[in-house]
Amino acid sequence: MKKSFLVFLLFGVGFAAVNLPAAAAPAKATPPNIIIILADDLGFGDTGCYGATRIPTPEIDRLARQGLRFTDAHATSATCTPSRYALLTGQYPWRKAGTGVLPGNAALIIDPRQTTLPGLLRQAGYTTGIVGKWHLGLGGIGGPDWNAEIRPGPLEVGFDYAFMQPATGDRVPCVYVENHRVFGLDPQDPIQVSYGQPIGNEPTGKNHPELLKMGLTLGHDGTIIDGISRIGFMTGGHAARWKDEDKADVFTAKAVDFIGRNTNRPFFLYFAAHDPHVPRVPHPRFVGKSGCGIRGDVIVEFDWCVGQIMDTLERCKLTTNTIVVLSSDNGPVIDDGYDDRAGPDLQGHRPAGPLRGGKYQVYEGGTRVPFILAWPGRVAPGVSDALVCLVDFSASFAALTGQSIPAGQAADSVNVLPALLGESRTGRPHLVEHDGGRMFGYRNGLWKWIAPGAQPRPGIASRGALYNLSGDLGETNDLGVAQPERGRQLATELDSALQPAKSPQ
Ligand code: CA
Repeated sequence: MKKSFLVFLLFGVGFAAVNLPAAAAPAKATPPNIIIILADDLGFGDTGCYGATRIPTPEIDRLARQGLRFTDAHATSATCTPSRYALLTGQYPWRKAGTGVLPGNAALIIDPRQTTLPGLLRQAGYTTGIVGKWHLGLGGIGGPDWNAEIRPGPLEVGFDYAFMQPATGDRVPCVYVENHRVFGLDPQDPIQVSYGQPIGNEPTGKNHPELLKMGLTLGHDGTIIDGISRIGFMTGGHAARWKDEDKADVFTAKAVDFIGRNTNRPFFLYFAAHDPHVPRVPHPRFVGKSGCGIRGDVIVEFDWCVGQIMDTLERCKLTTNTIVVLSSDNGPVIDDGYDDRAGPDLQGHRPAGPLRGGKYQVYEGGTRVPFILAWPGRVAPGVSDALVCLVDFSASFAALTGQSIPAGQAADSVNVLPALLGESRTGRPHLVEHDGGRMFGYRNGLWKWIAPGAQPRPGIASRGALYNLSGDLGETNDLGVAQPERGRQLATELDSALQPAKSPQ
């Protein structure tokens, strides 16, 4: 640990000498805290600083004014589990089987022997915590026993503290897990979970739709918890069940607590909010606040969470030396299985902004996400069009903190630290985009290739599609016929990228 701090010290002072007035240099001796605020399904066009006019996001806009706002930042994948797997491991998720969207009783998909982002930062002397959505599985083969110690989980892959929802809001079990235990569980009322046959005798959305406070459009017809039916079945654990309306408050309070406990040492907080994922259930104080329907309201709620984190940093006098990254795990979706009027109430709002597609899709709208990095003591505010990806955190923050990555680990993570700090406009040279399943896109600069999938997809020619995002950000003009050579070249590069990675870049 000593050695790593020394490396950081030299590294940090080197930066300071070049870029900061002499008076500011001593502050660089302390490694910056790092907070990653990850929204769930927040689109490229959903916030004011990215062009939204109908949803007020003053806190996110404030963060953008303090920091660098990236216009070509991506998640690896257009769905939750693979995107989050990549963020924490530095590995493209499609390299590993079983990294698709997980049921709520899945086993942990990160190997505890893997190098992870929190593990690297813990090695650098950071205290590490996750608050919010996990959705990377818990427990060994066969999944977790919800009534006993739940391990392995976040604490076995690099986190010192965890307070989380195991999967998604629309999947059972609808309880929080703190470290190795279900939070607030009454041992006399054990939890059982099934993603096969129904269990218990509680009503389901399928059999008792009259009990629902939010209707269904697709799936989600399992056990009804708090008037909303979920994917899967559960029984027991009544005292531990969450209230959907309170989740943003609960997660934010836990995040604020974590920051407050760690003001005198470097910390890494992965704050994985639930909003605006379904089911969209804002606290009553946010209902109607967007003028743009319930999806807008939960974005306003998320914005409030961001403001609470920023205010906490200011109160603790940590703003200057804390890196705050705000992003999203994938692009937006309107109807994701519940009849919540998200579509009719959009009022002209465009969640993906100028981009085509959204969640589950390989178009830019699926993976290109909002991405703000603020570090007021170090990074000048501005806008960057560098190509960066959430998979790059491992290599970039390892470089920042003087950590080395073992051979073969985090092998898809590119050190884009100069771009993240605003010192370079050059990010990664290329990027594989992934719909979350088996569809792939490939970016080389502003050229984009979409490979033909195994099954036909609407709008994508069977030979694949080629776009020049310079002037065609919306991917409307397929140049595959006009420029077949370029298409073939990009297809070859994609095939090469899909081969197993050899070493960290
Ligand atoms: Ca998501």
